[in-house]
Amino acid sequence: MLNKRNFYINGKWVAPTKANDFEVINPSDEQPIATISLGGQEDIDKAVKAAQIALKSWRKTTKSERLVLLEKLSAIYEARKDEMGKAISLEMGAPMDLACGSQAGCGTQHIRGAIITLENFQFDQPNAVKNDNNHIWMEPIGVVGLITPWNWPINQITLKVAPALAAGCTMVLKPSEIAPLSAYLFAEMIDEAGFPEGVFNLINGDGLGVGTQLSVHKDVDMISFTGSTRAGIAISKNAADTVKRVSLELGGKGANIIFADADEKAVKRGVLQCMGNTGQSCNAPSRMFVERSIYDQAVKTAREVARHVKVDQSHLTGKHLGPVVSQVQFDKIQALIKAGIDEGAQLIAGGLGKPEGLEKGYYIRPTIFADATNQMTIAVEEIFGPVLTMIPFDNEQEAIKMANDTVYGLTNYIQTQDNEKALRVARYLQSGMVEINGNSGGSDSPFGGCKQSGNGREGGIWGLEDFLEVKSVSGITN
Ligand code: NAD
Repeated sequence: MLNKRNFYINGKWVAPTKANDFEVINPSDEQPIATISLGGQEDIDKAVKAAQIALKSWRKTTKSERLVLLEKLSAIYEARKDEMGKAISLEMGAPMDLACGSQAGCGTQHIRGAIITLENFQFDQPNAVKNDNNHIWMEPIGVVGLITPWNWPINQITLKVAPALAAGCTMVLKPSEIAPLSAYLFAEMIDEAGFPEGVFNLINGDGLGVGTQLSVHKDVDMISFTGSTRAGIAISKNAADTVKRVSLELGGKGANIIFADADEKAVKRGVLQCMGNTGQSCNAPSRMFVERSIYDQAVKTAREVARHVKVDQSHLTGKHLGPVVSQVQFDKIQALIKAGIDEGAQLIAGGLGKPEGLEKGYYIRPTIFADATNQMTIAVEEIFGPVLTMIPFDNEQEAIKMANDTVYGLTNYIQTQDNEKALRVARYLQSGMVEINGNSGGSDSPFGGCKQSGNGREGGIWGLEDFLEVKSVSGITN
């Protein structure tokens, strides 16, 4: 059993003020693997104080001073990337290939991304449109609270920490208590890289405790949050009294519109993308809308693809799906599959219960519903499991209307070989991202949503600007 009880405050590993043990469970076999501490108000106060003191000098560091430290972090991350992959696999159940591949790989991408953005960023920009004695200074917002989820743990952490460091902010990270091992390892890397004490602090804890204490804290200038819409709403309310900036990356219910002229791999690609990471991605294309003339064939293809998706334990290598993260998620997904059956959708693959031979662990059968409606619970709620809902449509307008008929607006997908149609439809889709024919935006493109999927944008220049204040200074003589 790993002992990960300490917090990282002011450049040191310190014991929590009051003991409050919490067990981390391996989702593959339901066994405890580590003990962390859930922090409290005094721990948060210490961490925020350390960040406040560190801010005084960190905000004055030059671009090149910050780049030297970020480059060190990048090199350490690369050297320990395999360790990171293993920690992610253990804590949240991603199979080894996925955990050491895309999951840990996101860390590399986002640290490198922040370095490139910082190299090219101008913190002092002349406002030439108005007059040349007016300059725009982009300044660090201050002490930031970073609250992250368990599903792509190091992806979310590096998408926040690296640009916040680049911006000159200091910070307190509260990772998910369900999957805190990757964050712990990341804090070791920050320590090894030699960032000044207090610049980065890590406090473990739950949402109601540390999450809330950070959100209401008068000395925290901004909360950057990724997680559920439910928690995003609570954080916004809690942050309102101190008028701090709140940047939100929340849930999704992506539509994948497959037109009759889509390429032949479109359906297979859609099924596999929905089930990737065991369906635990905010941008999963979990509603598949198929043009009626190819609908029956699409259903047959989807069933075949799902039947070949293997499920197995996370420590094994291969392209299988691992378990979902917890008993809570397992129960929620089972209840939603049951709702799909009860409300009359046609179950064409998977269903209730665990896959054969995997009785211990939070395993879900890869599940597809056909002939559903967009009003059924399985088409409305974010399931966050390997469950796809298929619905036919008759024309472009109907597909757009159904795609937009959701509280979410994160990513939508279009499959057609008619470029004009793709662009026309993309214009009408209410989402922060649209992917055409399986092409995702690069790591320097903005990631984020609209409506109840949030208001922030992470990655590239947008991810850096999220952590900056805009100061207009006029009367400058050159
Ligand atoms: P969650 O909201 O339960 O927890 C996320 C984090 O918030 C955790 O650290 C948790 O402790 C904390 N938290 C919970 N309640 C809180 C509160 N009231 N105040 C402050 N902090 C609180 O979400 P989860 O189950 O860990 O993650 C899954 C959710 O995250 C899904 O809805 C998914 O779509 C979303 N997500 C969104 C993105 C995106 O970029 N849009 C990316 C990944 C995940």
